[in-house]
Formats: sequence, C-alpha cells, structure tokens
Amino acid sequence: MPPRTCALCNDARAILKRPKTGQQICKDCFFWVFETEVHNTIVEAGLFKPGDRVAIGASGGKDSTVLAHVMKTLNDRYDYGLELFLLSIDEGITGYRDDSLETVKRNQQQYDMPLKILSYDEIFGWTMDAIVSQVGKKNNCTFCGVFRRQALDRGAASLHVDHIVTGHNADDIAETVLMNIMRGDIARLGRCTMICTQGEDTIKRSKPFKYAYEKEIVMYAYFKKLDYFSTECIYSPDAYRGHARAFLKDLEAARPSAIIDIIHSGEAFEVREEVKATQKSQQTCKRCGYMSSNDLCKACTLLEGLERGMAQAAITDRARKRLDAEGPAPDNLRTIPFFQNSTTPGTSTPVALETPS
Ligand code: SF4
Ligand code: ZN
Ligand code: ZN
Repeated sequence: MPPRTCALCNDARAILKRPKTGQQICKDCFFWVFETEVHNTIVEAGLFKPGDRVAIGASGGKDSTVLAHVMKTLNDRYDYGLELFLLSIDEGITGYRDDSLETVKRNQQQYDMPLKILSYDEIFGWTMDAIVSQVGKKNNCTFCGVFRRQALDRGAASLHVDHIVTGHNADDIAETVLMNIMRGDIARLGRCTMICTQGEDTIKRSKPFKYAYEKEIVMYAYFKKLDYFSTECIYSPDAYRGHARAFLKDLEAARPSAIIDIIHSGEAFEVREEVKATQKSQQTCKRCGYMSSNDLCKACTLLEGLERGMAQAAITDRARKRLDAEGPAPDNLRTIPFFQNSTTPGTSTPVALETPS
C-alpha cells in the first residue's frame, strides 16, 4: 500500500493519527494545528493583553512543559507581548518532586524564562512527606491541593504577575465535569468549565489547554523531544477522580469526541441563581490574610490540625468538634506568614529567582 499523504497539506507523508479527529497527518501539520487551536482558545477568551506578566505553573510534567513551550512559541509568533515566568511548587515529596524540579530547572535554561520555586516547607513548615506520615495516604491530596493553591498565589504575588496559567487539559476538565455530576455538586459544575477564574482579591488563573487532549499533549512532547518528567506521585492520587478517569478513557476509546462533548455539556448547563449563591462571600483569613470564605482559610485550618496532632479536624465535623473541645489554638501555634497581595503597592516581598547556572 502506498504511504498515505497528510489530510491537511496533501503533500507530506502522514505519520500519525490525530487522537482528537482521527485524521492521518504529517508531523509539521500536527504541530501547527495543535498550536493554532491553543492560540484560538487564547484569542477567543481574550486571556491576555500586551505587557501582562504571566506565570506558568510548572511541575516538570508533560502538561506544564508543553504549556511552557507552546506559550513561548505563540508569544513570539503572534507578538502577544507577554513577560513569561516559570513558577514551581516543591511539595516536599522525596523521589518525586525533587527529581521533577530538576526537569523544571533544565526547562528554565531551555526556554530562557526566570524561575521561582516555593516550597510547602518554607510557607507552611510541613513537607508532604511529613504530612503523609501524620495523616496517612487517605486525604493527603486534600492537604496538597489546598496548600498548592495558596502556594501558587503567594509565588505569583511575589513575582508581581497578573496571571497564572496552568496545564489543565481537556481530559482533566471533562473528568471534573463527571465528578461534579456524580457528587451532585451543581455549583461547582457551573464553574468547572470556565477557562478563567478570578475573584476580587485573587490573581487571575486560566487554562489555555482547556480543549487540548491529553493524548495530543503527550504526542506533541514526544515529537518535539521535549524534556519532561513522567513519573506519577508516590502518594496515590484522588481515588474518586480515578473512577472518573477510567470511565472517560472508556468513552474516548468508543468515541474520541466524548471529551469535548462532555466539556460542551458542562458549559451549556444553566445553573440557577440560588444555586450559584450557595458560594459564600469572600473575606480575608484572620490568621494569614489569604482570601477565605470563613474566619480562617482552609490552609490555616488544615495547618492547625496538623500542628495540634489532629489532622482530621479540617476534614470531618466530628474531628473538628474534638479539636474545638480542647480549647482555642495556643498562642505559640506555628502559622503561615501573612499574605501580601502584589496589587497593593509596596507590600510585596522581594523576588528571589533561581538564576541560570
Ligand atoms: Fe499532591 Fe496528591 Fe498530587 Fe501527590 S497525587 S502531588 S499528594 S495532590
Ligand atoms: Zn501535512
Ligand atoms: Zn489563613
């Protein structure tokens, strides 16, 4: 059988089957179509304006490595006028994050972008290794997720950036839609397909890979020979998400458009105003100044439980009551440094960047 020609340029030999559409195409057309779709997503959502300082949440994994590469390519090709940074969080997971951070440090040189690394240890006084030794491997991702969110915001504030972009892809978003349906969490369902989120006090966050398939991200990294780290975290990820992921993979195998179709379904849901209103209004945490819907932010509540040896206190009501019964937090309780948002002039901590060696 003669070699197939590319379905897009009708010239070069097709060497891959595009997961999203099933088209047989050549390598150059694949790069072009993948990058152009991300560009269209960015332009249609009006994500950036010239002069924006944008931090790329970089873990060294495939999604954020491809994101850094594509953001740099598009910024140069279409003259977005962005100042790009890499921002990495060191959760303190021996044998996983320490190795992946080495990858990020190489990416810093390859993409010539300033890099800032912030660790859970320096912000919260706890590494994930220490947290898992107290809480075990159940609920550990709750701690990690809450701490990461706050760590990214703190890193972004210290870099004075306007915007954080993360490598969440179409599969991640479709999984989240399914999980919110399975949990009946309609308020979250209404928000989870948004490409961009921003509260009054929070730094803008967005997902330029919202419509990019995971399989295509892997393919892009492979054909571009990008340097990324591919080991899974040693602390088992969220088991419930695992069910949604397995289900989604089955659906994708039967019909590749299932991923985009689920995202479109999520976008099309109309959430009643009274359901949206279940979100509490935002204030600042009394202890650390971070935005919060209660007196204490989630990170301070989790940290207090850890420090007082009752880590479950922020997870279950029963454990919280037991902690409350022990009386108020002691004065010498270790707390998180006060959060200073970079939008308030003169309040940010100086930027300490990793310098290329
Ligand atoms: Fe953190 Fe859980 Fe992800 Fe590991 S799997 S990095 S513990 S959120
Ligand atoms: Zn082609
Ligand atoms: Zn707090």
